[in-house]
Amino acid sequence: MKVYFDNNATTPLHPEVKKELIEAMGMFGNPSSMHAWGREARANVEDARSRVAGFIGAHDDEIVFVGSGSEANNTVLSLFVCASNQCIPGTKMRSSIITTKIEHPCVLETSECLAHRGARVKYLNVDRYGKVDLDQLAGMLGDDVGLVSVMMANNEIGTLQDIATISKMVHECGALMHTDAVQAVGKIPVDVAALGVDFLTISAHKIYGPKGVGALYVKKGIPYCPFIRGGHQERGRRAGTENTLGILGLGKAVEMRQLEMEAEEKRLASMKAILKKGIEERIDDIYFNGHPTDSLSGTLNVSFPGAEGEAILLYLDLEGIAVSTGSACASGSLDPSHVLLATGVDAERAHGSIRISLGRESTMQEVEYMLDILPKTIKRIRDMSTAYIKGGTHAASR
Ligand SMILES: *Cc1c(COP(=O)(O)O)cnc(C)c1O
Repeated sequence: MKVYFDNNATTPLHPEVKKELIEAMGMFGNPSSMHAWGREARANVEDARSRVAGFIGAHDDEIVFVGSGSEANNTVLSLFVCASNQCIPGTKMRSSIITTKIEHPCVLETSECLAHRGARVKYLNVDRYGKVDLDQLAGMLGDDVGLVSVMMANNEIGTLQDIATISKMVHECGALMHTDAVQAVGKIPVDVAALGVDFLTISAHKIYGPKGVGALYVKKGIPYCPFIRGGHQERGRRAGTENTLGILGLGKAVEMRQLEMEAEEKRLASMKAILKKGIEERIDDIYFNGHPTDSLSGTLNVSFPGAEGEAILLYLDLEGIAVSTGSACASGSLDPSHVLLATGVDAERAHGSIRISLGRESTMQEVEYMLDILPKTIKRIRDMSTAYIKGGTHAASR
């Protein structure tokens, strides 16, 4: 059996998106061209823009298509430095940025880079469930703060933040608010007006669309500085000939989410509940990470002390099951997850964690298969580990 439980890393194309992309594959016109080929491409790009805008309650001209969620996040953070250096006429932004310790690396590493370029960056703590400390935010907000960036849903543990409340606090102090909503859009209702955000990040491949395309919501009237310069595309907000097929795929993915999201997310939540209960019943000495209720319906992060996350991943892979570990394997690093550490989990428990993320193709049979394989896998790894004593060193760390 082949089981893909890594939907927070990326998702398979929705069959309808795939169909539309195959049909559109011959569309090669440049949307900037005025002839028929160009107009066809332009019409498709603008159609996708309306869909994306409509899905989050934005106006069409508040949507900028970009190359990825990472690019959207880089754009917002870099815009800030650009604005504080008065690159945008008439705008002098304040010099501090606030973000959180659990952001995606594309926010954290960009923030570190900005700190080297003169910005003051402050990082918010989270509680044991991964919720941002609002008292700490209130204390940090002052007239030096120009921008606050807090993710809406965490990719590793699924915890949701109260973005509307945070936006309100941020605006009261006169700063701008950005949220990385890559894991939220298409899974929970997102309305930019209700959230009160100035910038919001979307990525297509996390919602059954193609890779290498995303969208950035930029509220009307908000200072803006392009990250990629040298072209009039996207009203001068993102240079470079548009990824027409990618954008078309994003539009279709959003359309399908609009139709399926509500029922689908309920289905995932009930599968997760069964998975959670099954793990609890069949495996000793486990800990669930993330918020017990305020969480993405398909995301389950669990720690198995005495079993390395990488070992679990590889043994499950041998059985045809794909999950992920919190540690940033992609960067070749074996550091424990920064997200789990921020929630106060110790390094050993963080190392013994896996993320199971369900998606629209996940089935109950797959959940049952996982509940059959996982207990054996954990037992096998723990039996091999001389260091593991149940309730020993781990009991003390509870
Ligand atoms: C995947 C992800 C990103 C990056 O999006 P890409 O389109 O892959 O660059 C950013 N933030 C979060 C929360 C993510 O899950």
